[in-house]
Amino acid sequence: MTKAKKLSISVITLFPQFITNFAESFGIIKRAVALKLLDLRAVDLRPFGVDSRQTVDGRPYGGGVGMVLRADVLHKAIRSVSRSRIKDKGLRIILLTPQGKSFTQKEAKRLAKYDSLVLVCGRYEGFDERVRQFADEEISIGDYVLMGGELPALVLSEAVMRLRTGILGKDESADKESFSENLLEYPQYTKPLELQVTSNKKQGTGRKILRVPKVLLSGNHKKINEWRMNESIKRTKKRRPDLLN
Ligand code: SAM
Repeated sequence: MTKAKKLSISVITLFPQFITNFAESFGIIKRAVALKLLDLRAVDLRPFGVDSRQTVDGRPYGGGVGMVLRADVLHKAIRSVSRSRIKDKGLRIILLTPQGKSFTQKEAKRLAKYDSLVLVCGRYEGFDERVRQFADEEISIGDYVLMGGELPALVLSEAVMRLRTGILGKDESADKESFSENLLEYPQYTKPLELQVTSNKKQGTGRKILRVPKVLLSGNHKKINEWRMNESIKRTKKRRPDLLN
């Protein structure tokens, strides 16, 4: 069996604690780091700043509100991570920006093929336009504006890392879930077999028993798979018909 390769993610940020706290807090991630399957690190932007105050931003030329991250500072930080070459094979430099391509499970799968990702987080009003030239691509995690790129970087990192061999306990657990085949996942049940609840107003008064579908207890795997596939299709049609197109 071939050994799973390590995924390296470097996050360039003014707030490295965001990333280090995340990397140190979760069991699956700590285990992946210990097994050398993952190297998730923060690259502090501040030491790349200019002048004695390590300034990283400036006022926008032409006027306007807020501050913009300097291109020279980000250039130095990106170069420090990608060593001497700005564009390297196997390494992807990604700017997090609400103006980027929308992040989806399909994009996560594509990015999981790279062994090294450099994620550049903006802050304030974003970055100097010239920074775009140092990146391979730009990604947005959704049509809303956050205060910085750290949460988008963690969203992207988590979605990508769980698709890499060995990081999740069982590799197949990332296979059959929502979006994996343009379908939402089927409903899942666990103990108890029967759940007695008091129904709310909408459902009328009285007690009610919520049961696990019988087919899941049948032991007939062919039937169970059929049921799950049907449920997946029904659910996708109802909640996300756009996925079926
Ligand atoms: N003025 C910028 C604009 O209108 O495009 C928005 C700047 S935002 C306040 C600051 C930083 O947060 C951005 O540079 C980016 O790194 C990050 N950010 C905010 N929303 C994001 C999103 N939806 N996806 C990815 N990054 C985002």
